[in-house]
Amino acid sequence: MCGIFGVIGTNQAASEIFLALQNLQHRGEDGAGIVIADETGLHKHYGLGLLDIAFPEAQFLELTGNLGVGHTRYGTSGGQSLDHLQPFADEGLQMALAHNGNLVNYHSLARQVDEQVDEQANERTNEQTDEQGSNGVSSLETSCDSEFFRWYLARYFKQAGQVTVDGLQAALTELSQTVAGSYSVVGFIKGLGLFAFRDPWGLRPLKLGVRKDETTGEMATAFASESTALTYLNFDVCDSVAPGELVVVTNDGQQARRRFAEAHPQHCMFEWVYFARVESQLEDLSVYQARFNLGVALGKTVKAAMDEPPDVIVPIPETSRIAAIAMAESLGIPYREVLIKNRYVNRTFILENQAARLKAIGRKLYPVADAIKGKRVLLVDDSIVRGNTAHRIADMIRACGAKALYLASTCPPIRFPCYYGIDFPLKDELVAGHRDLAEITEALGVDQVIYQSMEGLREALGNKPLCTACLDGNYPTDISDGQLMSAYRSKQRNDDLSTHLTGVAT
Ligand code: SF4
Repeated sequence: MCGIFGVIGTNQAASEIFLALQNLQHRGEDGAGIVIADETGLHKHYGLGLLDIAFPEAQFLELTGNLGVGHTRYGTSGGQSLDHLQPFADEGLQMALAHNGNLVNYHSLARQVDEQVDEQANERTNEQTDEQGSNGVSSLETSCDSEFFRWYLARYFKQAGQVTVDGLQAALTELSQTVAGSYSVVGFIKGLGLFAFRDPWGLRPLKLGVRKDETTGEMATAFASESTALTYLNFDVCDSVAPGELVVVTNDGQQARRRFAEAHPQHCMFEWVYFARVESQLEDLSVYQARFNLGVALGKTVKAAMDEPPDVIVPIPETSRIAAIAMAESLGIPYREVLIKNRYVNRTFILENQAARLKAIGRKLYPVADAIKGKRVLLVDDSIVRGNTAHRIADMIRACGAKALYLASTCPPIRFPCYYGIDFPLKDELVAGHRDLAEITEALGVDQVIYQSMEGLREALGNKPLCTACLDGNYPTDISDGQLMSAYRSKQRNDDLSTHLTGVAT
């Protein structure tokens, strides 16, 4: 998962991007990048870790360019190094772009690129052509799927010979028939302006905002993964970039909206359930309202499933809080915040590997034992993915002397991998991947597990067209390369872990 932001029409592009990325930090904590264009060229800044660590000096704030893009990275493709940080830039085209999502068929695409490069090298040897060859195919420089967009557009425009809105639309139409997966992308080409596009399913969010400077009358336009990044900077949030749509804001301020692929909307339900900030609006439904609705819907299931109501409803902080309040209100059961979070420990879901996750869970939550002792406790979580958090918390609550312990999830059982940018690519690591309800209950160490129903989820999210592939296995795109992708991701995680351990040991 990642956060993306791009802006045109402000003389403070660098500082605005930095502030926007702070509002998208939850979408990626591995590292960040900012690329600004001004009359002297492209200015690129990258750093590993949280924004304040990645950019301790923030020298780029002195840049005066009015066009730029930024990215916060949570790597689900490629390694954890500076080379893999976005935005990816192309000096020849004077372009930079940032991607949120995952290309399921990236490894096939990368192989095809290699084959084209080899073919070109052979042609060059045979024909003694110039250095760049007849079709100007260059290699990919990283193992990150997002780089494919840079590679593709750079090659396309090199062959086209000029950059236009029509050309970009045509390039994306061709691209959409080549790639399988999720992509929300924001970027710029210095000679054209700012652009943003979204895959035909609208899997990852992408919002458009405009702002008029009351003094100068100048208009600025920005694109962001989530509306909070726009409203924080006083942009009026207009609407979402539609699935299969390209939006371009040219350097002279004209906005063009073009369709490059037929829309088949299937928005990721997990953005509302867990990932997005509660203050954000995704499509036309606020995350807050969605989580409230999820709590009310889950309350109905809880009431039907439990023989006797619990004494207290306890949220597992932070994302389940709104749903737990809604459920407690609707059932008339006391709501108690008795799991206290240490705000200085990073989110466990976003941590890179299992060992890091398990360690972090133990450090980040502390129970209020007196308020738990002798009680029948119903814990509420937004979802149960690997079960690490739920299991550790169950142990913690039992150690405080709870009389009984139940666990309710606002999301139905997650049984299948996600190939679209949420980091659970392996069925085997999901607690519900191969278990029935009784086995899940035992694995989590609670007395009863109650899941949201599919109907409850759909109703709570306004009956929108949703991707629910991780719940029911119905993937919106071709996933024939999915297993290959999972294998690479798994290997990458192990490599990152051994690098980390080696680093610690030395
Ligand atoms: S598989 Fe699940 S997590 Fe992945 S995009 Fe679809 S709904 Fe979201």
